[in-house]
Amino acid sequence: MSLHLGPHPQVKPDPDAVLIRSVKAYTFEESGDEEKAGGGADCHRQSQGHWIVDSPISNPMSVYEQYRDSRTSWGIGALGSVIVEVELENGTIGVGISIGGEAACFCVENHLSRFVEGQDPTNVELIYDQMWRSTMNYGRKGLAIQAISAVDLAIWDALGKVKGVPVYELLGGKTKHCMPCYATTARPDLAKEMGFWGAKFPLPYGPASGEKGMRENIDLVKKWREAVGPDFPLMIDCYMSLTLPYAIELARKCEPYNVKWIEECLPPDDYDGYSELKKAVKTTLVTTGEHEYTRYGFRKLLEGKCADVLQPDITWCGGMTEARRIVALASAYDVPIIPHGSSIYSYHLQICFPNCPMAEFLVMSPKADSIVSFFGNLFVDEPLPKDGFVELSRKPGFGVTLNREGLKMRRPYSRADDL
Ligand SMILES: [Mg+2]
Repeated sequence: MSLHLGPHPQVKPDPDAVLIRSVKAYTFEESGDEEKAGGGADCHRQSQGHWIVDSPISNPMSVYEQYRDSRTSWGIGALGSVIVEVELENGTIGVGISIGGEAACFCVENHLSRFVEGQDPTNVELIYDQMWRSTMNYGRKGLAIQAISAVDLAIWDALGKVKGVPVYELLGGKTKHCMPCYATTARPDLAKEMGFWGAKFPLPYGPASGEKGMRENIDLVKKWREAVGPDFPLMIDCYMSLTLPYAIELARKCEPYNVKWIEECLPPDDYDGYSELKKAVKTTLVTTGEHEYTRYGFRKLLEGKCADVLQPDITWCGGMTEARRIVALASAYDVPIIPHGSSIYSYHLQICFPNCPMAEFLVMSPKADSIVSFFGNLFVDEPLPKDGFVELSRKPGFGVTLNREGLKMRRPYSRADDL
């Protein structure tokens, strides 16, 4: 019995549609401009002395002593930002961002552009599907999906602007008035003073630092628990750096300190390991998904019962078109979605769905002592949390304006036939 259930007529643009005229991909002019701009789309492109790069943070390269002290030493932000602009025939411009730098620009300009230019921006599913299928031979996870994400977000932004509505209205409207936020920070004590719901801090040491490292990890958990009192939620980010036995031991030793969750303990491909970890640990929640991609990756995490909370990054996982599918899948398993970073892209998604209870806000000031924009100087009007909540404006699209004057942007693969 064939499952071929009918023809698939090719989409023809609506005669009244405002079509996409061009897609352009930018990165920063010179190495160093991104750091001066406060990181852009890549929160790890920071100047020396910033807590997120220049403090001991356990990571996959911590097994190598020479790369243990600083994540810049092994190139955590080597690729940097990609900024995608989609321009419609009437001059409306949508902006989307991700990481991937010049490599992502190459992919957008030389491959993805053919599925975008000349298309009706209303057809987000069609454009996404063609970008996804056509990159399957080299994509599926990582860089290619990050490039697709930036294009997809730019289309959603343009679509909101041309229709005069915020993206959250295109997605179905609000399920809550504003977004509660927790802070990711080196200073949970200050996050509490700033009014955040809770605070997450990075684990300093991994298995290669031995028993001394474990002791210092637990001393830090104890220090922050004593600093914030018994009830303020505390979480620990392990950035893909542990082994299953180490993660189980860490969870056990954290028991007296009431840790809300331990995040991304294992390499993202270790689905079986996450499943074992969740079975073994009952005194803290297990979260992951920051470095997972597309509905297929998240289906694995859901089916394997790998985590209590999933944390896709909306600028990495496939953009808004794929993220809303991930949210829908997770809702059928009663698993909350609390995205990684993503700022406005996360807020517009989360405010629409009941299983998205809380946004992450990364405290990106160098000493984690003040609230600054997550995307640095990329936008002139990124909404910031006040007393732990973010409110979204009624401005169309994602409601933010690219800081064209303040950024030194470069388009490395401009095409000769550009309009
Ligand atoms: Mg994380």
